[in-house]
Amino acid sequence: MSDPLSPKSIIPAEVVECLICKAENETARRHDPDGDEAPALLQIGRTPLGLQVWCLRHDTNVYHVEFGKHDLSVLRMFEAQIGGSAADA
Ligand SMILES: [Zn+2]
Repeated sequence: MSDPLSPKSIIPAEVVECLICKAENETARRHDPDGDEAPALLQIGRTPLGLQVWCLRHDTNVYHVEFGKHDLSVLRMFEAQIGGSAADA
């Protein structure tokens, strides 16, 4: 049985991306189909309510997950595995 917290076992059902970055890349692709896309520049951090994905390029919220009153022990275990700080979670 695979480890549910292993990064290799996590397959995203949907890619989280900045809609402004996506639109800019689509526009650039129309002008230069062989050009390079601007890479994502996202920051992920904990908030008092959950997790937030932030586009550093556009200084905008991309995604926010609120955990409500759910147990965050799984998140703390995952942070410990990837080296994040869970001390103040
Ligand atoms: Zn963006």
